[in-house]
Amino acid sequence: MKYYSLNHNAPKVSFKEAVIQGLASDKGLYFPENITALDPAFFDKIESLSHKEIAFEAIKQFVGDEIPADKLKEIIADTLVFDFPVVKVEDGIYSLELFHGPTMAFKDVGARFMSRCLGYFNKDKKDAKNTVLVATSGDTGGAVASGFLGVDGVDVVILYPSGKVSDIQEKQLTTLGQNIKALEVDGVFDDCQDMVKKAFLDETLAHKNLTSANSINIARWLPQMFYFFFAYKALKSQNKSLVFSCPSGNFGNICAGIMAKKLGLPIEHFVASTNVNDTVPRFLENGKYDPKPSKATISNAMDVGNPSNFIRIQELYNNDLKAFEKDFSSYSYTDEETLVALKNIYNTDGYIAEPHGAVGYLGLKKELEKHSNAIGIFLETAHPIKFLDVVEPALGITLPIPAQIESVINEEKVSVKIGTYEELKEFLGQLN
Ligand SMILES: *Cc1c(COP(=O)(O)O)cnc(C)c1O
Repeated sequence: MKYYSLNHNAPKVSFKEAVIQGLASDKGLYFPENITALDPAFFDKIESLSHKEIAFEAIKQFVGDEIPADKLKEIIADTLVFDFPVVKVEDGIYSLELFHGPTMAFKDVGARFMSRCLGYFNKDKKDAKNTVLVATSGDTGGAVASGFLGVDGVDVVILYPSGKVSDIQEKQLTTLGQNIKALEVDGVFDDCQDMVKKAFLDETLAHKNLTSANSINIARWLPQMFYFFFAYKALKSQNKSLVFSCPSGNFGNICAGIMAKKLGLPIEHFVASTNVNDTVPRFLENGKYDPKPSKATISNAMDVGNPSNFIRIQELYNNDLKAFEKDFSSYSYTDEETLVALKNIYNTDGYIAEPHGAVGYLGLKKELEKHSNAIGIFLETAHPIKFLDVVEPALGITLPIPAQIESVINEEKVSVKIGTYEELKEFLGQLN
């Protein structure tokens, strides 16, 4: 399978090159040249297949022959080591829980899959290491740290803003050791992001084989298709149309859902639910794509002013706005509305959500008014413990600490403080 750059000014590359480079040389996102729908017989018998078998069928055409089938099956088995329950919240509304992985955020699947692909591609290159460089405002860093821990031939350097991530998130980044290094930046998230971007453009660092590990990387983005297949399998016997609502920030998750639909998965409608970072809802309202600087909210993993995967969604619809609007809606919610929803879901349904899931629930409820015969599914993208400063006071409860969190919370933090780009360069220079 070949991938082209959405800026159309770079050579086509293989799956392997696209994973290693992350972004094309013209700074465009990579996109697969062909998308072939799966055999209808696959959907007829999906309930008899395991999650691993479903995932293999969904992703194999995108990997092509660059990873042998046996090895790809192994990578998938090593990625999907936890469950994805579909939990009934109220009549016609389900939560697809994506937070049962090692860092309790849905990014675990993409990070694990990408790390194992990179590890495979590096297997014969014992001396030329890859360096994954990533800036995080919270959840990405933890999932990447855990996903890449101990992967041969890959160093991971995570930049995070000092004092601006939660205690649990900081522990998830800074306590693992081995090939995972945490840099604590004196600044805000945008400063971390700027340093990372500068490093990618810095030719004196070319020998470090830098790559990114956010959803612009196809190996982090594509495995997110699996969730939609798993939910379909769980709900198929009800024989109803499905509406999915994704709490959206960089729009990687929802874009993967649209890919699943392209593969033939019967999904009636998608809702991109956002907080007040509402670039896409505004676009659907007035036809103008007008990104704004991000605003801080209680659903902070979605504080994105210019969602990087939106361009992939437009490509999936050939920039045909009519076709796009038929399948896709987007609504935005304030923190106040999110808190009211969080309380209602708990008091009425007895379900403990967290702010991102609550935003997803709100968008779903609104869209379902137009789909009287459908079942709605919102993606619950993080465990409530990850946002305990919001959830506990809002609901007046104390959450038990899950084992995954307990295991890092008492470990000792190890980080290197930096303040300037020169210090980042010096640090990268010392890695070998
Ligand atoms: C990353 C993240 C999101 C946003 O996902 P996108 O794919 O960037 O739209 C939503 N919720 C949580 C908890 C996240 O960590």
